[in-house]
Amino acid sequence: MFMALIASTMAAVVLLLWCYWLNANQRCLLWIAASFFIASVATFLLGGRGKMPDWLSIDAGVALLLFGISLTWAAMRVFNGRAVKPWVLLIGPVAWVIACRVPAFYDAAGLRVMIGSLMSAAYFAAAAWEIGSTKDGLRTRFAVAAILLLHAGFVLMRAPLILMDQPSQGVFSGVWFGIATLESAIFIQVIAFLMVSMIKERVESQLRAAALTDPLTGIGNRRAFFEASSAVVAHNARHSRSTATIVLDLDRFKDINDRFGHPVGDAVIQAFAATAKKRLRAADVIGRLGGEEFAVTLSETTSEQASLVAQQLNDAFVAAVKAMAVPGLRCSASAGVSSSPGTTVSLEDLLELADCALYEAKTLGGGKVCSDFSREGLKASAA
Ligand code: GH3
Ligand code: MG
Ligand code: MG
Repeated sequence: MFMALIASTMAAVVLLLWCYWLNANQRCLLWIAASFFIASVATFLLGGRGKMPDWLSIDAGVALLLFGISLTWAAMRVFNGRAVKPWVLLIGPVAWVIACRVPAFYDAAGLRVMIGSLMSAAYFAAAAWEIGSTKDGLRTRFAVAAILLLHAGFVLMRAPLILMDQPSQGVFSGVWFGIATLESAIFIQVIAFLMVSMIKERVESQLRAAALTDPLTGIGNRRAFFEASSAVVAHNARHSRSTATIVLDLDRFKDINDRFGHPVGDAVIQAFAATAKKRLRAADVIGRLGGEEFAVTLSETTSEQASLVAQQLNDAFVAAVKAMAVPGLRCSASAGVSSSPGTTVSLEDLLELADCALYEAKTLGGGKVCSDFSREGLKASAA
């Protein structure tokens, strides 16, 4: 049983190292691999009971096992990006070695198994708490925490059961011991699989966030804006509510780049995104459509209300650019507003209408807001 446990654990260690090689920045894989490897060496020492000196198989074996288990807790800390304090890793092993110096403890096999199990279960429970108490939307966290807790429970339970066996040929030959070893082997495979799944889930969610975020401003990009806004438009149409869109374009922006340089142009774009985000409600959708053009979708909002919002966004932006304190730097945003009157209108239609209104606003000079381009007007202009 011991050799089967060691062999299957080593297979998990190799697979974890393979995954680490493929995802070199995921250091928690190294920690969990180290945890399993050290636990395997400890298992080898424990299994050598009777064939090796007791100080090696009992004192060192259990101390090493506790150290290996503490590394599972450390792996969860590393996954969460938190520091690992070395002294916490050593509490269990050092306490064990000290306890073994006390003859009353050392000579009581039952007490030894109980205390060793209690310390192991404490590390597993701490690892479960570490991984389960962080809320970042990763669903695999709860599976990992549940398995760790379940295993902590098994470890606690197995001490009295193994002792209850009272096998004739020592503590390692009873039925419960066999079951406990099998449970350990299954636990190690499941945790290895779940750790890799959890890393994959996080990498995927980071990639998805990056694919939807505009790197310069941190707000949603064109794709994110279309995804989120389409949902708002469809939802409002189902409930016969109005949706408004605003398309905003920074005025004479090319001149800013030409006169003040590209970095100042970038800072102006960032200032627009930051002030707009501050002004809007959490449920409003904002995105950078490209270059110096932005769009906003407002749920349950009329054109009149949206025009007011557009004016406020422009005022805040003008003030923010002034606050940059670059001599001679001024910038405003023109805006076009459209809204669906509670009937089914697609986002594309709304944006097209807002674009026409924006075109109109541009002809009035900088910083103006135009709205309510009718669809009839659009058709007429297309004709
Ligand atoms: P209008 O008032 O008619 O909107 O004129 P405009 O100069 O703002 O518009 P135009 O479309 O002629 O120029 C937009 C400029 O925005 C051109 C492009 O170089 C610049 N631009 C686009 N993206 C970025 C960016 O990420 N950073 C900087 N600094 N400039 C950008
Ligand atoms: Mg422009
Ligand atoms: Mg433009």
